[in-house]
Amino acid sequence: MTATAELMDYADVVARFDPVLGLEVHVELSTATKMFCGCANVFGGEPNSRVCPTCLGLPGALPVVNGKAVESAIRIGLALNCQIAEWCRFARKNYFYPDMPKNFQTSQYDEPIAYDGYLDVVLEDGEIFRVGIERAHMEEDTGKSLHVGGATGRIHGAEHSLLDYNRAGVPLIEIVTKPIVGAGERAPEVARAYVTALRDLLRALDVSDVRMDQGSLRCDANVSLMPKGAEEFGTRSETKNVNSLRSVERAVRYEMCRQGAVLAAGGTVVQETRHFDEATGSTSSGRRKETAEDYRYFPEPDLVPIAPAREWVEQLRTTLPELPWERRRRAQEEWGLSDAELRDLVNAGALELVAETVEAGAAPGEARSWWVSYLAQQANVRGVELGDLEITPAQVARVIALVAEGTLTNKLARQVVDGVLDGEGEPDEVVEKRGLKVVSDDSALLAAIDEALAANADVAEKIRSGKVAAAGAIVGAVMKATKGQADAKRVRELVLERCGQG
Ligand SMILES: [Zn+2]
Repeated sequence: MTATAELMDYADVVARFDPVLGLEVHVELSTATKMFCGCANVFGGEPNSRVCPTCLGLPGALPVVNGKAVESAIRIGLALNCQIAEWCRFARKNYFYPDMPKNFQTSQYDEPIAYDGYLDVVLEDGEIFRVGIERAHMEEDTGKSLHVGGATGRIHGAEHSLLDYNRAGVPLIEIVTKPIVGAGERAPEVARAYVTALRDLLRALDVSDVRMDQGSLRCDANVSLMPKGAEEFGTRSETKNVNSLRSVERAVRYEMCRQGAVLAAGGTVVQETRHFDEATGSTSSGRRKETAEDYRYFPEPDLVPIAPAREWVEQLRTTLPELPWERRRRAQEEWGLSDAELRDLVNAGALELVAETVEAGAAPGEARSWWVSYLAQQANVRGVELGDLEITPAQVARVIALVAEGTLTNKLARQVVDGVLDGEGEPDEVVEKRGLKVVSDDSALLAAIDEALAANADVAEKIRSGKVAAAGAIVGAVMKATKGQADAKRVRELVLERCGQG
């Protein structure tokens, strides 16, 4: 029986079945050059402008391993708590596909560079779920096919196809989990949290730009169900190239509901690859899944084995950054944040920016407030990521200091930030150029106050007769006259003094 579009209610699925997940994540490394040749490793570009005899698989061309890619693979393995192989090889995975000019992919098969690790994943409610890592191995990316003439961009319905080999040979690390069992109804959430944690980890390691939208991080989700209490895993489907975090969660959930309906109707789940449709949130049948034997793997004869010296591995271990969740835990403690505040900060992509602003001397509360409110708003208006705003944490810290010492009000400070964002220079220069200092000279303020009192004689009279609340109107007039550059509190004191209420 093949797939049907029938879905079981999610609550019924988790009442009757235990889901088992397996997640395979491909990450493109951000090395300067490709895995086995000297071609530049850059996203996009004029089609077929970054190719050479090696990555085109021309006769006689020989590959050479990119040392930096091996180094990144080892660092990823170490960060995932894996064993690092003392000796391993590349293998040829043989199959024909037009975007793969050699007719085999150079990959690793039974000798991965890293194996047997784990990644601790933090769920929404703070619970930690440990995901076992089966292996992380090195391989190369394929080129890209562009199917022209059809409505969907898929090969189905296309008139012809174009091939771009710029991506052929880009270094990839494939990270494969052990079967994830015991997640129960939280399986979709676990899947999303795992890919999120992995993305954050790879970003902290600075080995990839981890752009799911550009395909530098891609996730295949294997899902199967087994009846509650069963020991043996069910047949799995593999949903390919899910390209956003949200889609990972949706795809797993959809597959659970689809397979639940198949099994409940007495059918069998077909072992196959499936495509996830972002628009409908559903998956559709792809090709029947091959087994490893189909690929006729054999050791790559053109490459020497990789035997990373233990001293090198240990030296690389010392280069591991503080892991994202450790970093968060520390920030939460040091800055006294609630779980919700921490989550907002992380979701806004502001954690590191706030940390650097604090390091530059700002109080954590002030630093956080600037980055998650006004600066986040400006990033939104300007259509850039928070970290890409044209202002440094040190400059934000300087603005905060200017407010603290009374040179700027919060309102003026926002204008200074605007000036910095608009390329007018350092905060102090913007203050000078725009004339934004708080008017703290009492005589200048008194002149403005006298003017306002004269212009509002009735209000002045009220204040003199003891209705101090009326002073607000005069303060407002003075603030307007000084273009907001006066300290409102000081103006109020002076108004009351002037009216004999001081
Ligand atoms: Zn090349």
